[in-house]
Amino acid sequence: MKDFLIIGHGLAGAILSHNLLEQGFTVEVLDQPSNNHSSSVAAGLYNPVTGRKMVKTWAADHLFPFLEPYYKKLEAQLGASFLRPIGIYRPFFSYEDQNDWDMKQSEESYKPFISKIHKKGIESYDLHDEYGGLQLAQSGYVKIPDLLEANKKSLVQENSYQEAYFNPDKLEKTNAGFNYMGNDYKAVIYCNGLRVLQTDHFGWLPMKGVKGEVLEAKTAHQPETILNRGVFILPTDHDTTRIGSNYQNQFEDLLPSKKGQQEILDKLQKLSRAKYEILNTVAGVRPATKDRRPIIGKHPEYEHIYVFNGFGSKGVSLIPYFAQQFTAFLKENQPLWDEVNVSRFYSSYDSQ
Ligand SMILES: Cc1cc2nc3c(=O)[nH]c(=O)nc-3n(C[C@H](O)[C@H](O)[C@H](O)COP(=O)(O)OP(=O)(O)OC[C@H]3O[C@@H](n4cnc5c(N)ncnc54)[C@H](O)[C@@H]3O)c2cc1C
Repeated sequence: MKDFLIIGHGLAGAILSHNLLEQGFTVEVLDQPSNNHSSSVAAGLYNPVTGRKMVKTWAADHLFPFLEPYYKKLEAQLGASFLRPIGIYRPFFSYEDQNDWDMKQSEESYKPFISKIHKKGIESYDLHDEYGGLQLAQSGYVKIPDLLEANKKSLVQENSYQEAYFNPDKLEKTNAGFNYMGNDYKAVIYCNGLRVLQTDHFGWLPMKGVKGEVLEAKTAHQPETILNRGVFILPTDHDTTRIGSNYQNQFEDLLPSKKGQQEILDKLQKLSRAKYEILNTVAGVRPATKDRRPIIGKHPEYEHIYVFNGFGSKGVSLIPYFAQQFTAFLKENQPLWDEVNVSRFYSSYDSQ
């Protein structure tokens, strides 16, 4: 009998399964890959200071000191290379913006996230950055598909991975836990992104999909860092660049759209003067939550049924920290933060 049946091998299922194995648990991961699940489309940015108003993201002081060391260790353990800690450059909107950041440089709470304040534009980037810009520290991107491939390889070696669709109707309760297709498990964890809403166990969660698109393009000079204001321009290991993204709460299908592409190109023009040849567009849906916080913990009624989900647009920065917290919860009953605990939604669960 294995300890955990994990449904889904996106970034959440991959990192959680790795942590559980490391802590001595046995797992079986079931995944039915698709081209437009969130992890296969995501640009993989991690950015401690976001939004037009450029404020620290939620829980940044906890998440970011943990993040790069976690991914570096994971690279060493999996024998793969997927972390690109290349920083983010965000042009200022005005001299006032520049002054604000000049002041913030001396604030203890912002210092760790500032690498440099540029008082003048950086010519070689060909941007609209006449007021200079902010070079952020503790930022970059993770090549999520490469991480998933390496983790899958390691799970296969441990005999802990199956490429298969999980059919909730085939899950049977037993005295010791669960039986699924002839195999016994002590517990089940749903890491299946938005498709958790198609299950009876967690179909009641207040989650929704937010569609987004990413363009793949060619340009004459790849920047050495990520450029970001309104849209990001991400240099890759190859000679292409990734540009994105947009946020659509209402959508009819999961296909890339002309409208979405145009929205990104309009914002790109406000950031960059360079010419881009668009090669391809990909689209996916983020597993977002009503209150923009992850949803983690145990089912309100059924013992040994868990969820680790709802990472929205920030899976890369949220998942390592909360996978560690959730592993300690499962192993030693350590508390989960109230803000991420699924128990905050128990009142919406109707057991009838
Ligand atoms: C356009 C776009 C850009 C993004 N950019 C960023 C970014 O720059 N930085 C960032 O941090 N985040 C970004 N994100 C968000 C990021 O992708 C998510 O936060 C994260 O990948 C969610 O991972 P997940 O494992 O929870 O879900 P998913 O990636 O959705 O993985 C769920 C997995 O479960 C599988 N599954 C579902 N149901 C079943 C079943 N019944 N049986 C078997 N398998 C099943 C799916 O096939 C999939 O493999 C972006 C998302 C999009 C769409």
